[in-house]
Amino acid sequence: MTKSVALFIDGEFRQSDSQEWLDVTNPANNEVIAKVPCATEAEMLQAIGSASVAFRNWKEVAVPEKARLMLRYQHLLKEHHDELAKILSQETGKTTADAKGDVWRGIEVVEQAANIASNMMGEMVENVAADIDTYSMIQPLGVCCGITPFNFPAMIPLWMFPIAIASGNTFVLKPSEQVPLTAMRLAELFEQAGAPKGVLQIVHGKKEQVDFLLAHPDIKTISFVGSVPVAQYIYQQGTQNFKRVQAFAGAKNHMTIMPDANKDQVISNLVGSSVGAAGQRCMAISVAVFVGTAKEWIDDLKMEMAKIKPGKWDDDTAAYGPLISQQAKQRVLRLIQEGKDQGAICELDGSECEVAGEPNGNWVGPTIFSNVSVEMSIYQQEIFGPVLLCLEVDTLEDAIELINRNPYGNGTSIFTASGAAARKYQHEILVGQVGVNVPIPVPLPFFSFTGWRGSFYGDLHAYGKQAVRFYTETKTVTARWFDDDIPTGPNLTIQLK
Ligand code: NAD
Repeated sequence: MTKSVALFIDGEFRQSDSQEWLDVTNPANNEVIAKVPCATEAEMLQAIGSASVAFRNWKEVAVPEKARLMLRYQHLLKEHHDELAKILSQETGKTTADAKGDVWRGIEVVEQAANIASNMMGEMVENVAADIDTYSMIQPLGVCCGITPFNFPAMIPLWMFPIAIASGNTFVLKPSEQVPLTAMRLAELFEQAGAPKGVLQIVHGKKEQVDFLLAHPDIKTISFVGSVPVAQYIYQQGTQNFKRVQAFAGAKNHMTIMPDANKDQVISNLVGSSVGAAGQRCMAISVAVFVGTAKEWIDDLKMEMAKIKPGKWDDDTAAYGPLISQQAKQRVLRLIQEGKDQGAICELDGSECEVAGEPNGNWVGPTIFSNVSVEMSIYQQEIFGPVLLCLEVDTLEDAIELINRNPYGNGTSIFTASGAAARKYQHEILVGQVGVNVPIPVPLPFFSFTGWRGSFYGDLHAYGKQAVRFYTETKTVTARWFDDDIPTGPNLTIQLK
């Protein structure tokens, strides 16, 4: 029998009363592995109501106690790392290595959440005027919510709820309806770690349920990660409803390759960062910008890329898995065709990809285009598949100008042996996360995930100190104590009743 995914409301894993259920499929063969409900209005209200009630107590819990919850959670996540990775692989198709990485990057955020006290510290200035001091404190906001995408079912929910909850808030998570199973296991382990009832709630669904969260007055913040149009919609709707919003969106990440770079490193890093996880990473390198004679390496790149094969998650020889859905596959195939029609040269074509034993999977093989120009739809749109575009420019300045004209600013990298070139690049590029001889520069959680421009709508980013600021409000107190009031003499003795 197909598994029905539960809701997690008021500390209980319960079956939904919904009449509307969606299929969760295994992307390697498109078989249905579970059914996920679209939560009813009553269930949405119960989740938000329970989170509001839980907030009253949770905000008063001592900060070290909140940190200890995160320490216990981190321990459990590590203990169940392989099991979580397996669930994640089954619903996303990710290879075991990729799935473990997804879980691990989430665990690292929980470690950061355990360090909450040092990120909750306020400031103080003594003697702002005679006998007067001003100090600030950080306080939680209330019920926060998160809406997450399919491509990192462990890491992205863990970017959100542990820090929000460690900061004293309660949280309603709506995971991607395409991959709800990992989120449910994350919730079970959180409960097992001792999370009080109602501190975390999980609701399922799609636009209707998201709209409910966007409109409800008790929801104070919205953390969103997903595609560009939805990020824009969430930011507009959420801020219109006077909520604090952080919306992480799509990307087009460029790697700049200087002719003095280490060629072997360039090729192996380009292969891994462009087609790894089937290109379904928001920080995947989707454009290689070859400067000057570096373009001569495209043939070698093609040879290396041709050796890469997708396959099932438990096949150790598979470099990456299938695309998440048939719809996603059809979209990638359409863009590959448009690239050909618009005059790009398809150096390696993965559109006819097959994987032995899995004829119904959403497979796309590694694909490379050269002779790409910026007007083409393959350059204009985020493809989100294993497709790498090669562009050629004459100078480093040209590369920087090209990248700065692109509307997105999630990640970029430069491969070079020149410190001077790297410094100029990191200084002038209008992208929020820069790698120097590092292809996918995702910062560890003591920093923040700092996408820029069209890849991010909001002010304060995910994890690190910025996330604590996002989930809290600063209160400043100005206090004056009068010397005349200091008790003197025998009355100083404290009277104990
Ligand atoms: P998506 O936008 O389709 O869905 C994301 C979430 O929004 C899901 O929970 C979904 O149910 C909900 N949603 C979908 N349509 C909606 C609508 N019309 N109104 C309200 N809610 C809606 O994204 P996806 O396909 O799951 O994820 C892939 C995208 O996420 C890519 O564009 C990728 O670049 C982006 N992404 C960005 C980052 C980042 O940090 N910038 C990280 C990961 C993924």
